[in-house]
Amino acid sequence: MNIVLISTPIGFLSSGRGGGVELTLNSLVSGLVAQGHSVEVVAPKKSELIETSNKAKLHFIEGEEQISWQHQDYYSPIYIPDNSLLSGMLEKAIDLGKKADILLNFSYDWLPIWMTLNLDIPIAHIISMSSESSIIYNLISKVYSKYPLNFAFHTKIQANDYSFIKKPIVIGNGFNIENYKFQDCHNGPLGWVGRVAPEKGLEDAAYVANKLGEKLNVWGIIEDKSYAAKIEKLFSPGIIDWRGFLKTDKLQDELGKCRVLINTPKWKEAYGNVIVEALACGVPVLAYKRGGPSEIIKHGETGYLVKPDDKDGLLDYLKIINEIDRKNCRKWVENNASSIIFASKVLSWLKTVVKEYKIRKTP
Ligand code: UDP
Repeated sequence: MNIVLISTPIGFLSSGRGGGVELTLNSLVSGLVAQGHSVEVVAPKKSELIETSNKAKLHFIEGEEQISWQHQDYYSPIYIPDNSLLSGMLEKAIDLGKKADILLNFSYDWLPIWMTLNLDIPIAHIISMSSESSIIYNLISKVYSKYPLNFAFHTKIQANDYSFIKKPIVIGNGFNIENYKFQDCHNGPLGWVGRVAPEKGLEDAAYVANKLGEKLNVWGIIEDKSYAAKIEKLFSPGIIDWRGFLKTDKLQDELGKCRVLINTPKWKEAYGNVIVEALACGVPVLAYKRGGPSEIIKHGETGYLVKPDDKDGLLDYLKIINEIDRKNCRKWVENNASSIIFASKVLSWLKTVVKEYKIRKTP
C-alpha cells in the first residue's frame, strides 16, 4: 500500500511533546516499511524519524500548533490559529494523497475528523486519547454513523469512552522489541516515566518513594513546570531524581535497571506506551486500574493493578513486586505488542477502509 501518515500537530517528532504518538507513529512506520509498504509522513518542521523508520519520506510543515486537548476544558470550543500547522499538514497530506491509497491521521483534533465527510480520498483515524473534548466526541459520533470503519482505538477501555461505539476496532500498539534489552535486576530503583503534567499523577508515585525513603527516578519531558515544582516541594529533598527526556535507547537502558515502574495516571490513559516499554525490558509495572493500563497489565503475571488513587495499595503491592517473573513481562510484549504485530493489525484495518471506500464510490 501507499500510505500517507499525518502526525500530531503538537510538538515535532522526537521533541517528546507529542507524547506516546511519537513512538507509536515511528513503530508503525518501521513495521509497514519492513513489510514493503510505501509510507510518507507529514509532520511539523524539525521532526525526526528513528533509524528503523527512516525509509519513509518526511514532509515538513511550519505553522502554529494546536493546544493539547488534555489541557483544555472538556467543553472548550475548537481552536484553529492563524497559520495553522494542522491545516498546513492536511493540505500537504491531501496533495500527497492524490497518489496514495489512504491517509492515516494521528492527530486528535476536529479538522481531520470532520474532513472524513468531505474528501475524495479515504482517511482513517487512530484515536489516541479517551474522550477529552465534548465537541470531538460529538463529531466522532456523527462521522462514525456514516464511516464506522474509519476509526481505530488502542484499547477496548479507551473505545468504551465513546459510548456510541458498540464494536470498536482495537489495534493495540507496537514497539520495536529489538530496541529494548531484557535486564534481570531485582534490586534496582523505583522508576516513573511520562510527561510531567497533572494528568500523569507523578505525586502519587513520589508519595510511595517518600514513604519508603527511596529515590524515584523520573524520566520524561517537564511539560508543566509549576506542577513539577509543586510536587518537588511536597516531599523530602532529593526524593525525585529528574533524569530528563531521553531517546529510547538511553531510556530503555536506564529503565531496565529498575525493579518496578510505578504508573499512576489521574486520567483515562488510552494505552500507556511507557508500560509496555518497561515490560519489554523485563520491568514489572505497578499501576492504577484505570484506562489502558488495566487492559495491558496482567495482574500477578506482569505487574499489579491497584484501586485508582489508592497510594497505600501501591505500597502493599510493592512489597511483593519481586514475585513477578521478569521474563513473563518481556514475553508478553513479544507475543502481543511488537511493531510487526501492530503494523499487521493496522494494515488489515486500512485495507477494509479502502475496500469499503471503493464500494461506496462505485456507481
Ligand atoms: N518518552 C521518551 N523519553 C523519556 C520519557 C518518555 O521517549 O525520557 C516517551 C515514551 O517512550 C513514550 C512517551 O514518551 O512513548 C509517553 O507516552 P505514553 O503513551 O506513556 O503517554 P502520553 O504522553 O501519550 O500521554
